[in-house]
Amino acid sequence: MDKRVEVLVIGGGPGGTPAAMALAQGGKRVLLVEAAAGLGGTCLFEGCIPSKILHETARRLREITQAGEFGIHLPHPLVQLDWRHLQARKRALLQRRATAAQQRASRLKNLELQFGQARLLGARRAEVVSHSGERIEVEFDTCILATGSIPNPLPVRGADLPQVSSSDRILDAPCVPERLVVIGGGPIGIEMAQMFHALGSDVSVMQRGPRILPGVDEELAVMLQQHLITQGIKLYLDCRVRRICHTGQGVFVQYDMEDGCDQIYATDVLAAVGRRPNLEGLGLENTTVAYSGRGIQVDETLQTTEPGIYAVGDVTGPPMFAHWATAQGLALAAHLLGREAPSFPRPEQVTAVIFSTPELMTAGLSESGAREAGFEVGVARYDFSQDARAQIGGYDNGLLKIFYDCSTLKVLGVQALVANAASLAGEAALLIRSGTTLGAVAEGIHPHPTLSESSVSAARGVLMEHPHQCL
Ligand SMILES: Cc1cc2nc3c(=O)[nH]c(=O)nc-3n(C[C@H](O)[C@H](O)[C@H](O)COP(=O)(O)OP(=O)(O)OC[C@H]3O[C@@H](n4cnc5c(N)ncnc54)[C@H](O)[C@@H]3O)c2cc1C
Repeated sequence: MDKRVEVLVIGGGPGGTPAAMALAQGGKRVLLVEAAAGLGGTCLFEGCIPSKILHETARRLREITQAGEFGIHLPHPLVQLDWRHLQARKRALLQRRATAAQQRASRLKNLELQFGQARLLGARRAEVVSHSGERIEVEFDTCILATGSIPNPLPVRGADLPQVSSSDRILDAPCVPERLVVIGGGPIGIEMAQMFHALGSDVSVMQRGPRILPGVDEELAVMLQQHLITQGIKLYLDCRVRRICHTGQGVFVQYDMEDGCDQIYATDVLAAVGRRPNLEGLGLENTTVAYSGRGIQVDETLQTTEPGIYAVGDVTGPPMFAHWATAQGLALAAHLLGREAPSFPRPEQVTAVIFSTPELMTAGLSESGAREAGFEVGVARYDFSQDARAQIGGYDNGLLKIFYDCSTLKVLGVQALVANAASLAGEAALLIRSGTTLGAVAEGIHPHPTLSESSVSAARGVLMEHPHQCL
């Protein structure tokens, strides 16, 4: 045996890295193995960060084109996007963050970092092949699998054409796509569609189901659809892509809809049809770890069916978010360090932001999810058309909904569609985590004029209509 460690962590993304660091800080001897060239995972190199860097430029460009509404007259045709500069800015920021992550890890004397591919050989053994081809065997007491997820393949003929990209590849495209077809109306598809549209692409979205964002409150998703259409994005619902055919410089995307079949021309196609757990080459067959297409099976302490082997983040299946992976990783580290009652994240507490335009924030249970969980659900609403901050900002077409338990008035979930909805997510997460009641929300004193007043007004609205419900 070449090496013996207390904990082997496989995967240096937002799940594995914080877990490895917390364990090393707590005194465990840890080996963290990462297959890419730097720490940060999908989030840093292909997901959250690069997509939001492009999104930020798209947002600023959109603001410039809307400046006239605010009394600012700009020489429109002179506003140009410098895609190469944007790509260089993106690379520099990613590099800066990757270097900082590596420096933080290297300061921990109990943490050894190895870049290479890890594979389980048994319940307590793994091999690591470094990027230079050197192979070592590692014995461990505990292993954490944090290998993340990869894009689902697009199951149609022509998906392998060079014009068809997944989300990671399109973020590095050599230029802004001229005519982009996005296949998939989930969070990644919608974010990318609006972002590339603002950057200058002609965009069409094809969604198999009757509406976009199936996991989100229907009323808010339908409102967002209307925004997409108003912005000039073509939306094809109940649309099944049949085939992609090469033609000249681009492709034809052939599709079926209720009223027949047709095709549209595209220079680029983005396949955004979900992600699946990354189990490839992990050696699970050498263990008793149970898994399916949805991910590695774990119990409430994130232990797999093989005692001593745990899993965190995307590899355990949905929800697939960076902050979720980190919360799992840190809770697991606390558990393995023997800390008392570590707080493992529970699905009813999940918070997310879809960086659409306007942004869509979700926290806790949806209305239908709460009903399925057996609650009698009340809904407190706030329409941003009456909101001072939203009116000032010129984005007053939005809605906030608070879902609460009618018997206790506890907040179960919050969803909002409005520009900058992300700024509401932190408070919403705390309301749910702490079991706050509508009465307490209504007593909150939030600064004026800010979007944060919306939850207070929504709660007051319910309590004024039903004063006897004040708890
Ligand atoms: C386009 C896009 C946008 C996104 N935007 C957001 C967002 O705004 N907010 C948000 O919360 N989430 C977002 N996500 C999701 C987020 O990126 C993931 O949920 C998060 O990265 C999961 O973290 P993880 O640690 O589980 O896995 P990952 O980040 O995927 O990290 C897994 C790591 O394991 C490594 N690895 C895999 N196999 C091995 C092996 N055998 N040996 C060694 N190393 C291995 C990989 O190289 C990788 O670095 C986005 C995703 C995409 C694709």
